Amino acid sequence: MSTKDFVEKDYYKVLGVPKDATDAEIKKAYRKLAREFHPDANKGDDKAEERFKEISEANDILGDSKKRKEYDEARALFGNGGFRAGPGGAGGNFNFDLGDLFGGAQGGGQGGGAGGFGGGLGDVFGGLFNRGGTGTRVQPRRGQDIESEVTLSFTEAVDGATVPLRMSSQAPCKACSGTGDKNGTPRVCPTCLGTGQVSRGTGGGFSLTDPCVDCKGRGLIAQDPCDVCKGSGRAKSSRTMQVRIPAGVSDGQRIRLRGKGGPGERGGPAGDLYVVVHVDAHPVFGRRGDNLTVTVPVDFTEAALGGEVKVPTLGGPPVTLKLPAGTPNGRTMRARGKGAVRKDGTRGDLLVTVEVTVPTGLSDAARDALEAYRKATAGQDPRAELFQAAKGA
Ligand SMILES: [Zn+2]
Ligand SMILES: [Zn+2]
Repeated sequence: MSTKDFVEKDYYKVLGVPKDATDAEIKKAYRKLAREFHPDANKGDDKAEERFKEISEANDILGDSKKRKEYDEARALFGNGGFRAGPGGAGGNFNFDLGDLFGGAQGGGQGGGAGGFGGGLGDVFGGLFNRGGTGTRVQPRRGQDIESEVTLSFTEAVDGATVPLRMSSQAPCKACSGTGDKNGTPRVCPTCLGTGQVSRGTGGGFSLTDPCVDCKGRGLIAQDPCDVCKGSGRAKSSRTMQVRIPAGVSDGQRIRLRGKGGPGERGGPAGDLYVVVHVDAHPVFGRRGDNLTVTVPVDFTEAALGGEVKVPTLGGPPVTLKLPAGTPNGRTMRARGKGAVRKDGTRGDLLVTVEVTVPTGLSDAARDALEAYRKATAGQDPRAELFQAAKGA
């Protein structure tokens, strides 16, 4: 007899009796079916023989009040077919990690959900779960979501980076394998019958559920509380994880890394990790979405006469921009494909803003040249338009 049988086989159905059938009703049903499918009466009929075996097996369990009780509790606990202890142990939505709970051979949630049961049936149902009464069902629990922060350099944020992240989260206590019990044999919480939740009627036919106060929602209560975790079954665990931050994150962005949060309990999935990213400013470059920005000083003659201007890029060789003659101060030009990496692998642009600088500390020759320029442009009033406009309004 295996747990799998207990969970998957519906002996009541086999005998065609209701779940609350009396012993006499079960006996009567069994006798009738046994006569009908007895091999002596069905010579050479394999199907009948198979059926007879099923009937006998069902009677072995349901006809014995102790076995019947264990069977009922096992089915109540693991759900009617909701739990499938297949080779992967991960079928259905309920994957009970016995290795964890009982501190036995560590099967783990992924590999050996079924292995954890092997042979230990009597202990499991005779010891732990019998105390909980019927209607017991231990729920898997999703791990906590964890929030963390990371500070990246400007370049790391643009290119993406793998950074170490030290996190603390709740994990099963190592000393008691998460049972909360010194001997690894907690009992099912009598208040919530292992569900971790209690219903509270509202009188209108509705009921609300609250986390069970007695077991703090765990469904289990330590008989002899673990000294390390004081019976909670949980411990703080610190771990350092390498986290990949995608290219193109910006300052203040919160990114979600699915399944990188706290570990789940009793086969529940892990929580998520949220990382708030801080990005250090760069002394030269700025960000505007996928584009990078840079301000480049040009002198008056470059702006007036035009010319080629070398512009630095982030992490690459400089690019040369052609400055048209008569470029005004503050004009922005675009160096295509020299910006931040986008999700699809292409790059944004580098937006280059020119800043016309005023020369100081002129040499005699430069001063003479500028005086000559002033003479040459004496007839032009740079504020003529300003005054015109001021009058007009
Ligand atoms: Zn409880
Ligand atoms: Zn403990």
